[in-house]
Amino acid sequence: MKKLILPLFLMASVAFGQSSLRPTIDQKAQDIESKVIEWRRDIHQNPELGNQEFQTAKKVADHLRSLGIEVTEEVAITGVVGYLRGGKPGPTVALRADMDALPVTERVDLPFKSTVTTTYNGQETGVMHACGHDTHVAILMGVAEILASMKDELKGNVKFIFQPAEEGINEPGVATWGAKQMVEEGVMEDVDAVFGLHIGSQMEVGKIGYRSGPALAGVDELEITVQGTQAHGASPWSGVDPIVTSAQIINGLQTIIARNVNITQAPAIVTIGAIHGGIRHNIIPEKVDMIGTIRTFGDEQQALVHKRITEIATHIAESAGAKADVRIKKMYPATVNDPELTEKMGPTILAAAGEGNVLTNPLITGAEDFSFYQREKPGLFVSLGGMKKGGDPTKTPSHHTPDFYIDESGFILGLKVMSYFVVDYMNQ
Ligand SMILES: [Zn+2]
Ligand SMILES: [Zn+2]
Repeated sequence: MKKLILPLFLMASVAFGQSSLRPTIDQKAQDIESKVIEWRRDIHQNPELGNQEFQTAKKVADHLRSLGIEVTEEVAITGVVGYLRGGKPGPTVALRADMDALPVTERVDLPFKSTVTTTYNGQETGVMHACGHDTHVAILMGVAEILASMKDELKGNVKFIFQPAEEGINEPGVATWGAKQMVEEGVMEDVDAVFGLHIGSQMEVGKIGYRSGPALAGVDELEITVQGTQAHGASPWSGVDPIVTSAQIINGLQTIIARNVNITQAPAIVTIGAIHGGIRHNIIPEKVDMIGTIRTFGDEQQALVHKRITEIATHIAESAGAKADVRIKKMYPATVNDPELTEKMGPTILAAAGEGNVLTNPLITGAEDFSFYQREKPGLFVSLGGMKKGGDPTKTPSHHTPDFYIDESGFILGLKVMSYFVVDYMNQ
């Protein structure tokens, strides 16, 4: 039985674009691993917040230029786009890295620990690569070096996208995401497929995780104002109480998840994170403000949840004689891995990571602005292990925390898989 299956399987995997350049990539990845680690430490020690990645962008641009790659700077403020022309005709494959750090004060004792500080939202804070975007930049700089060295053999072109502000700038009057801005400036127009990775502090080095279809949630911001009629707390019948009405709305919103969303297809979340109304124990206030977050896994589900939030809030308010004003701000769409591309690239991921090292990711209710690229062209986003071998994910600090730590021995797999994506895709 085995003898019959093996040749068929090999034929199939050759047909699905196994490039003969893989062994060369393996060798080159090994050769530049220490350089990639050096770059990463330098970027880690000099973190920059979203849309302020000036030094990081300069390092990237200088490096790409030194490799003979065409460079465009100041795309979406600090973004850098590199374009590598392959020696043979073929598709254009985009690879993406995000460059921004976070307002977190690093607590990890490292020789290249960040001591950078800034004022953020009026507060003194440290700045830290607490989501690992420093590793993404360094890995993609390495991939650029590997692919530039074999450009005559490439059956197509490679676009290196180094974007700012993945974490988003969401201040009063300003709401931008690096990827959205890059897309608006036309970065995806000549691209056939796009690949990206995210390091994971709680996934063991040597592993790659991914899932087909919806992978990370879409995020929207919710604001509801319930307008009542102010009254003495001792005579509620003389007014319309927006606090009692808000309580009913909050409970009503949870029925969207329990009664309207088809939870066998994908989960959804509606969270009210803050409510504010009133000033004194015996005054029924005029209005209540609530803010919250919505997480969904696709456009259809998102539309349903938005519609039900509006219906429930306005109708409950109406039934009480109050008025609800619902405002929903769309932020990141869901990150959806193109099923066809994901299936084609399955053997590529397996070849890079090896048997037993490929995981199916659970749905992640966090978000990624990589989704903006995927709305333009088929895209695949994978997780790369960054936790030390044998570590316990439940005891390992998560992303966005002061103790966030990445084991650098996982970078080499990042170099391999991103390079494999390009050459295998071109070989189809
Ligand atoms: Zn993050
Ligand atoms: Zn991130």
